[in-house]
Amino acid sequence: MTSAQFRAIIVGGGPVGLTAAHALSRAGIDFLMLERRPNVVVDAGSNLVLLPMALRTLYQIGLRSVLESVSSPLGTINRIDHRGHDLGDMKWFELDKENFGVHPRVISRHDLTKSLYEGLSADAQAKTLPNKKVSSINKTSDGVVVACADGTSYAGSIIIAADGAHSLVRDCMRTLALEAGSPDVNDEKPFLTTYRALWLRFPTSISSALQAGTTCETHGRNLATQLFAGEDTAVIGLYERLDKPTRERIRFTESDQDELIERWADLPLLRNEKLTLRDAYEAKIQAGLISLEEGVVQHWSWDGCVVLAGDAAHKFTPSTAAGCNNGIIDVVALVNELHKVIEEVHVSSKGLESVPSRSQMAAAFKTYQDARYLAVTTGQKLAANVTAMATWQTGVHKFLDRCIFSFQSLQRFMANHEASKIAQTPVFDFFEGEEQTAGRVPWAAPTTLKVN
Ligand SMILES: Cc1cc2nc3c(=O)[nH]c(=O)nc-3n(C[C@H](O)[C@H](O)[C@H](O)COP(=O)(O)OP(=O)(O)OC[C@H]3O[C@@H](n4cnc5c(N)ncnc54)[C@H](O)[C@@H]3O)c2cc1C
Repeated sequence: MTSAQFRAIIVGGGPVGLTAAHALSRAGIDFLMLERRPNVVVDAGSNLVLLPMALRTLYQIGLRSVLESVSSPLGTINRIDHRGHDLGDMKWFELDKENFGVHPRVISRHDLTKSLYEGLSADAQAKTLPNKKVSSINKTSDGVVVACADGTSYAGSIIIAADGAHSLVRDCMRTLALEAGSPDVNDEKPFLTTYRALWLRFPTSISSALQAGTTCETHGRNLATQLFAGEDTAVIGLYERLDKPTRERIRFTESDQDELIERWADLPLLRNEKLTLRDAYEAKIQAGLISLEEGVVQHWSWDGCVVLAGDAAHKFTPSTAAGCNNGIIDVVALVNELHKVIEEVHVSSKGLESVPSRSQMAAAFKTYQDARYLAVTTGQKLAANVTAMATWQTGVHKFLDRCIFSFQSLQRFMANHEASKIAQTPVFDFFEGEEQTAGRVPWAAPTTLKVN
């Protein structure tokens, strides 16, 4: 298949935008990726846990060995309360390994974006442009034009918005829908913020108890932490409930961060080991205080020319480590549809045409959203419930968290129930490979086997 006249413009070069660059390259679809930062490889932000569904995708595009060399498998999750009392262990990660053949892995954002970027061919890397802050988008008779703050502009057939939770493209898409008098107009502020998060990276050398794979959560009223240790650095995510939920964007200051640390300085981060929040903060390599938006955008595309993926479309609390993982799977579902519709047009025009019409693209985008919407809305609610449980939002949450969830048989029951849904996760269906993540639960869509 060739798609010489069709070009996708990816806005945003985070994990989802970079995965889209890989997928489009593999699909033979021309693209351009515009990233506002000066470098595509970032050295900031919290570490991320990659779950079997996203690992499967990343392994499928050939990144297994590089990712395994820069990430650490995670094991049992220890849990304690604010006073350091044991709340029992969670075995989710071991159960993931049993069900899907791989342990979830923790990786820094730097190593993830570096692996994704360096895994692209030289030709594909040349299509990823840093220092390109998109400032507006326009629809033309046969496609779209994207304008950047530096005065440049780029024409394409479609825009894939992978520009994160505060997506400018999503805002532009809303304006286009309003101007067209469409009933499919998204809420202006689709996400609600109930918690804020402090992420904090520090060297594992500050405590001998911090081995690669060490995982511990501290739970209690209105505040919970999650600690994941890699080889050299560990990260904690601290989630604190705000006084009042808000749809406004909040920007926190250094002094908000210092004040938060001061208030929770003695919070224990590990079971049976003296490591407090203050210890971690004093040794910090990087930290940031951000708001945790939550929600799922109602309409993921506009008029067959703009489509949302990743945090631009949905935002989770990090408690189930699902935001980026789901964003990566969005790319799978979206590029499967793009590949299919472009190929159909190409075949039906006997190789003369490879640009689908707006209505064909709109139908492909709808199929993509339909394929993802249920998984994403359920995942977002699950993440919200897990955060509520860890922060003891009600007496019931506290009771369940302290007295019920440590039962291993219950965890197994729940993990198995969840596994049957995870097994429905799509995989790229347009290139061959070998199944690299196989466990007790078969994937509904198997990886296409290499024909020898
Ligand atoms: C504390 C914390 C812990 C987390 N832990 C996990 C985890 O363990 N596992 C997990 O799966 N998820 C986790 N997440 C969620 C995860 O970080 C996001 O889901 C993920 O980063 C989304 O990727 P994305 O590429 O869609 O958006 P982003 O990572 O936000 O990337 C968007 C990119 O677009 C660029 N951009 C924005 N606007 C423009 C513009 N106008 N023009 C050009 N470029 C633009 C940005 O510079 C950025 O590079 C966590 C989140 C937080 C806050």
